[in-house]
Amino acid sequence: MDKQTIIVTGGSRGIGRAIVDRMLADGFNVATCGRGLRPEDLDEAVLWVQADVSISSDAEFLLKAANEEFGPVDVLVNNAGVQVEKSVLDSNDADWDLVMNINCRGVFNMCRAALPDMVQRGGNIINIGSISGMVSDPSMALYNASKAFVHGLTRSIAVDHGPKVRCNAIRPGWIMTEMAEDGFALARDPEKAMADALARHPVGRFGEPRDISNMVSWLASDQSSYVSGECFTVDGGMTAASPLNPGLF
Ligand code: NDP
Repeated sequence: MDKQTIIVTGGSRGIGRAIVDRMLADGFNVATCGRGLRPEDLDEAVLWVQADVSISSDAEFLLKAANEEFGPVDVLVNNAGVQVEKSVLDSNDADWDLVMNINCRGVFNMCRAALPDMVQRGGNIINIGSISGMVSDPSMALYNASKAFVHGLTRSIAVDHGPKVRCNAIRPGWIMTEMAEDGFALARDPEKAMADALARHPVGRFGEPRDISNMVSWLASDQSSYVSGECFTVDGGMTAASPLNPGLF
């Protein structure tokens, strides 16, 4: 069987890199991007494109580069994202532009660039949302809202562009990457905040990037062919808990 081709945005580090490595291991041609130069430790089989997904011409360029190198794109993973840790009261215009342009417009740009071909040939889009788009993390107003957008767009694409295109989202919980570390660093007492968060994980540990890449691998495969328009929480059970304090029962 011909190799399938996947684009993973934001593969320079963190969750995106784990997805890149997993999809390579699964036998895909892999293209990825970031705003900087090709990371030195990226597998040489991976096509690196310097591209900012918030710019529509960059998104189109990324698609074109993948097409030229590998042929049509079968799977698109919208992983690139940024977070700003502020309430509405503290957020300024630059915060809005940064978060919304990357987390919302970036996903939209990539989907719009990939869909014309996908609606003809078939395709599969996997968006990385967040539990923060479902339950609000404190002082993350724009980030929380941007991820709710991702979940909503996921359902719309599934409804509008099936049966040729499947579209699903993953809602990660606390996955240990630079982004998660930055989040904890802002707590009044980071060590206490981490211990408290850990105690709220029924599985007894924080997430690792591979926990998300495992889910991407399944969603990208035919084993999930009956699944579309869904958002999957992968958070070690953290948001399954009732808000009641278990210490009082
Ligand atoms: P990191 O900050 O570790 O990595 C983000 C990646 O996105 C980098 O490769 C970065 O590369 C890339 N990126 C950022 N902006 C752009 C852009 N405009 N164009 C292209 N690439 C870009 O984050 P994580 O790996 O932790 O997060 C990945 C995704 O998972 C994000 O969407 C995040 O919101 C989501 N998530 C993460 C959670 C966690 O606990 N870590 C929890 C829930 C969701 P560069 O900076 O070089 O451009």
